[in-house]
Amino acid sequence: MKDQQGVIEISADIRSESRDGLYHHTMLILNGSWLRFSCSCEASSYGMLCKHVLKLYNYYQRHRRELLREEENQGITFDGWGEPDE
Ligand SMILES: [Zn+2]
Repeated sequence: MKDQQGVIEISADIRSESRDGLYHHTMLILNGSWLRFSCSCEASSYGMLCKHVLKLYNYYQRHRRELLREEENQGITFDGWGEPDE
């Protein structure tokens, strides 16, 4: 995760729910007024907002403060999406 001049970039490899062992590389770029995303899955290649991007966005919303503290951290790897351990 990077936070440079108000632009926040997060990326993660998100495990596919339908195919075992498959990960989608998902990226999200935000600043105050716009949001950009990309994902390696099929839905995203058709220009759709896919559930991986939504998951990453939800994760960002929930862990915003922690993520901002770890500016050194350039990427997050998720091993599935179980219950949030808060
Ligand atoms: Zn996707």
